[in-house]
Amino acid sequence: MTETQLEALLYENRHFTPAEEFSSQANVQSSDIYTEASDDRLGFWAKQSERLTWFKPWTQVLDWKPPFAQWFVDGKLNAAYNCVDRHLNSWRRNKAAIIFEGEGGDSRVLTYQDLYREVSKFANVLKSLGIKKGDRVTIYLPMIPEAAIAMLACARLGAPHSVIFGGFSAESLKDRILDAQAKVLITADGSFRKGNIVPLKANADNALQGVDCIEHVVVVNRTGHKVTMLEGRDVWYHDAMQKAAMACPVETMDAEDILFILYTSGTTGKPKGVVHTTGGYMVGVTTTHDWVFDLKEDDVYWCTADVGWITGHSYIVYGPLANGATILMYEGTPDYPAKDRYWEIIEKYSVTILYTAPTAIRTFMKWGTSYPEGRNISSLRLLGTVGEPINPEAWMWYHKHIGGERCPIVDTWWQTETGMIMMTPLPGVTKTKPGSCTIPFPGINVEVVDQSGNSVPKGSGGFLVIREPWPAMLRTVYNDPDRYIKTYWNNFEENYFTGDGAKWDDDGYFWLLGRVDDVINVSGHRIGTAEVESALVDYPLVAEAACIGKDHAVKGQAVVCFVTVKEGIEVIDGFVDELKGHVSSKIGSIARPDDIYLTAELPKTRSGKIMRRLLRDIAEGRALGDVSTLADAAVLDFLKRKYGDES
Ligand code: ATP
Ligand code: MG
Repeated sequence: MTETQLEALLYENRHFTPAEEFSSQANVQSSDIYTEASDDRLGFWAKQSERLTWFKPWTQVLDWKPPFAQWFVDGKLNAAYNCVDRHLNSWRRNKAAIIFEGEGGDSRVLTYQDLYREVSKFANVLKSLGIKKGDRVTIYLPMIPEAAIAMLACARLGAPHSVIFGGFSAESLKDRILDAQAKVLITADGSFRKGNIVPLKANADNALQGVDCIEHVVVVNRTGHKVTMLEGRDVWYHDAMQKAAMACPVETMDAEDILFILYTSGTTGKPKGVVHTTGGYMVGVTTTHDWVFDLKEDDVYWCTADVGWITGHSYIVYGPLANGATILMYEGTPDYPAKDRYWEIIEKYSVTILYTAPTAIRTFMKWGTSYPEGRNISSLRLLGTVGEPINPEAWMWYHKHIGGERCPIVDTWWQTETGMIMMTPLPGVTKTKPGSCTIPFPGINVEVVDQSGNSVPKGSGGFLVIREPWPAMLRTVYNDPDRYIKTYWNNFEENYFTGDGAKWDDDGYFWLLGRVDDVINVSGHRIGTAEVESALVDYPLVAEAACIGKDHAVKGQAVVCFVTVKEGIEVIDGFVDELKGHVSSKIGSIARPDDIYLTAELPKTRSGKIMRRLLRDIAEGRALGDVSTLADAAVLDFLKRKYGDES
């Protein structure tokens, strides 16, 4: 992205300074922390490592042999011990660790003492099935407490887990089981989804056809519908738990022992098995969870991600539980049984912190304000977002209609690979600008560079890189160090390449422009997908937009957009032209879309991210690339039928 950047893109002059009322109670109150951390980065992380309980102290903060890092060398600890056992020595043992809300409204509360008992017993179950330190365990469960229990039981034994989102098909599950060569699979009979049952066990049975590595399958009884159990291979969770002893010693893990493998969302291509280790990861997630969410002892913290994604790993399970938080876990979707389900839950439990994704916020906008207005959500005191760039209009809507103009918003940029939040405001000190994830977290060094890796001047755009190693960084791609090097380290030598394009403004604030693979090049001008999409979402009737570059004989590429409108809107003639004009006036005529296609839905990954590469395939009439992570194939069929032939 060395060519001239379009100026004044995403121009936003709105900003919000933290309210005195919030700042004066915040966990971080002074911006000095930024300079302290950058003056002595390793010293900063050394200090943060004191948040954890170590069985044996580390001897060196960082051993960096690019691109391979070791953090907290020689240190010994156990992640599950940090998340559970260590809270039992204080009053926290009677504190709610997990508040569970089922799709149908059933609910359960597990205190830290309860969690300790369940995790220890389940670790014994795994042991009885032959699992020992180093063995991989695949987890394919709904959003129920057993998912967290299973992860922590693996961590207790030192068995790396690989959690597969429950919405994935048998085939996706099979690929990931084989890649990790897992020995045990933990699943459920089924999961509830919008009143129906997703047959997880049947999917698992299909996935295991011809798979030799899995020796046992543990099945949680969630839906109660009939499933086939294979004699000798399959065991019911509740049967095994009944027989399990409670005492289970904690395995001593090296800081660099693998905690888990997790596959990326597959927005840009075939998912990668990202490897995270124990010490650095735990330091990274506990520190960020405490400061970014301003965690207090009596908070009810709700992250709406699925445990199958990195957000669920770092900010439902490991970070929050190591910090002794009360987490809310919800099994279902935002629109079942009604479109006010989230607000109903917030009212029911007086949730104080909500962490969700732009895709959800845009959906709520599409549905209208009556749903949040019909519930008392005044307990909320802080809001977060992650997963995609948040369009400024969506940010403002979140701020006004969910945050009551009182809650700070933390827009957190990070990846499966980074393990921890990398760019975010600190809610008590950092000024926010709608649509910008603001600045790097203390102790993190992120920059925007040109093709040769030189920093670009403020006000311009380029490639987003991470200049220096960070504690929760991925250590490799599982069983594929070549892919690790090629994907992340070949472009900018000792700088980690994120794959994202970004711009930084005169205040040094970062604006994510989208994936560099998706950048649109119109007559030599490079336009980020996020810029055009935000201009479209800025138009009052538009709910969501996805933009791509389509081959064009003269311009190189032309801007093509797919747009969904808000509920109940009747589109009239001339609407598309009006939208094109709106983009021109917001960004410049260079970004004026050649075509705008109206659609009811956009193709998304199962984690809710827009899959632009598939739209490009459709617009250019190509065969579709990897669709294994696509959430709803019907959307694509529709788009292909409607627009595919035009090209
Ligand atoms: P794959 O790497 O397999 O294509 P993926 O990149 O979607 O999948 P994740 O690790 O879940 O998998 O997503 C990380 C990406 O999500 C980031 O690289 C970035 O593009 C986007 N992202 C996450 N948070 C933000 C944010 N706050 N602002 C802008 N973009 C974000
Ligand atoms: Mg990625």
